[in-house]
Amino acid sequence: MSRAEPLYRPPLDALRLPIIGRLLKARRGRLFFQMPLLLIALLLIYDGFTGEQLASRNLATVGAWVHYRGLVILALLLAGNLFCMSCPFTLPRTLAKRWAGKGKRFPRLLRNKWLAIGGLFLIFWLYEATDMWASPLLTAWVIVAYFVAAFALELLFSESPFCKYVCPLGAFNFAYSTLSPLQIGVRDPKTCQSCVGKECINGSYSAQPVIVVEPIGEKPPIRHDARGVLGCGTLLYAPQVKSNMDCTLCLDCARACPHDNVILGLRSPLRELQRPHSLPKRWDVNFLLVALAFMGVVNAFGMVPPVYALLREMALALGTGAEWLLLLIIFFIGSLALPALLSIGAAWLANLLTGRQRRPHGLRDTFAAFAPSFVPIGAGIWAAHYGFHFIVGALTIVPVFHNFLLDHGVTLFGTQVNWQLGALAEADQFAVVQVILLIGGYLLSLILARRIAVREYGPARAQGAFLPYALLFLALLLAAFFIFSQPMEMRGTAELDGLLH
Ligand code: SF4
Ligand code: SF4
Repeated sequence: MSRAEPLYRPPLDALRLPIIGRLLKARRGRLFFQMPLLLIALLLIYDGFTGEQLASRNLATVGAWVHYRGLVILALLLAGNLFCMSCPFTLPRTLAKRWAGKGKRFPRLLRNKWLAIGGLFLIFWLYEATDMWASPLLTAWVIVAYFVAAFALELLFSESPFCKYVCPLGAFNFAYSTLSPLQIGVRDPKTCQSCVGKECINGSYSAQPVIVVEPIGEKPPIRHDARGVLGCGTLLYAPQVKSNMDCTLCLDCARACPHDNVILGLRSPLRELQRPHSLPKRWDVNFLLVALAFMGVVNAFGMVPPVYALLREMALALGTGAEWLLLLIIFFIGSLALPALLSIGAAWLANLLTGRQRRPHGLRDTFAAFAPSFVPIGAGIWAAHYGFHFIVGALTIVPVFHNFLLDHGVTLFGTQVNWQLGALAEADQFAVVQVILLIGGYLLSLILARRIAVREYGPARAQGAFLPYALLFLALLLAAFFIFSQPMEMRGTAELDGLLH
């Protein structure tokens, strides 16, 4: 924390709430959230491998592509990175840690977000190219691959490289948790200065309580869990946390801290994004925020009729009918090439219009300063998209689960499956919410970009820096409006299966 910055005291600390706070900090607290998700993941894998291979009748496809995606974005915006907190893929972590001993650090070259950005691109492209959403078997294999990759990387390396550098789901959650209303911090930074063990990051593995000399009258008293507690897996140091990026909300830091000094504080959702230096000035971290907003548009574009017209045109022009290749080109241009070109172009133009092209307004500085302003518009696009699939398919899980039970001889809820259950609301009704989400995200991005421009260039020059970003956000908004005004495929619902089969 810089010296000039006043100490921020959040109005609420979730770890001090009655019952919830105790549960969150309990030694097995995370397990309480992970076990249900582990059971669900195993159920999805089992049904994906053995159940009916029909998207709208299988737990794997309905659970993964309708419910998980809809709920994850809702949780990120309302509370925080609840999925990573309950992630079942990290359950074998403790086991892997025991087997692995000390382990090595992840290779330096790979300690960045490029692998995760590549993974996001790959999974979004594969999702379309292989019709993953329609294949319970493929979906089950993807879940298995996640478990294997998380376990293997945890076994081989000392930190949590899967969560921090590899996992595409984690990268998505990290990026949009920068807009979440809760963040890890410390109650009293002075306690951290005199803290000897720094257990929040080091962990407290000692079989015996560590002997720590503290000032007389220290309150609350030092608590060491003699059984040992893991420190932060993604190597965040609680008193220096300024961002939710890389925080899996595992709360190991809170359990490990012997001074009970870690908090999960309430904050304004825009606080992190508008403060300077919340995120490092790295191309990879900031490009993740930019690219995800564009990926939101491209991902939704893959599900509306104009994509088929474009595929036909491209097939004629390139003389190939290989849909996977044509989709690869569309996804590469829309998800990686365009965001790189346009966001770097906007940074260059901002510097040109303000007449400031040297440090601290070099190309990377400007790119990094404005990258957080892509988060709200990106979140709005993803929420409008995933929210749509969730709303039109949320109740599908009831007949699908009922059918699963019947297939396995359980007649607890009768023998008549009500396949009519599906939508929570009509698609037309949700259109109003989509408009609110898109315009709300767009306006917040404008507000952020404007504040960043004033902060970086001063009120007199801010307009010149703001203009390129305002135009870029308008283009994203118009593209999203165009896509969401098209009829979207109701994937994972009986309606689309009826068309396909
Ligand atoms: S958060 Fe706790 S363990 Fe970490 S440095 Fe501060 S007092 Fe020490
Ligand atoms: S241990 Fe690290 S990842 Fe877990 S909640 Fe604390 S800061 Fe976040």
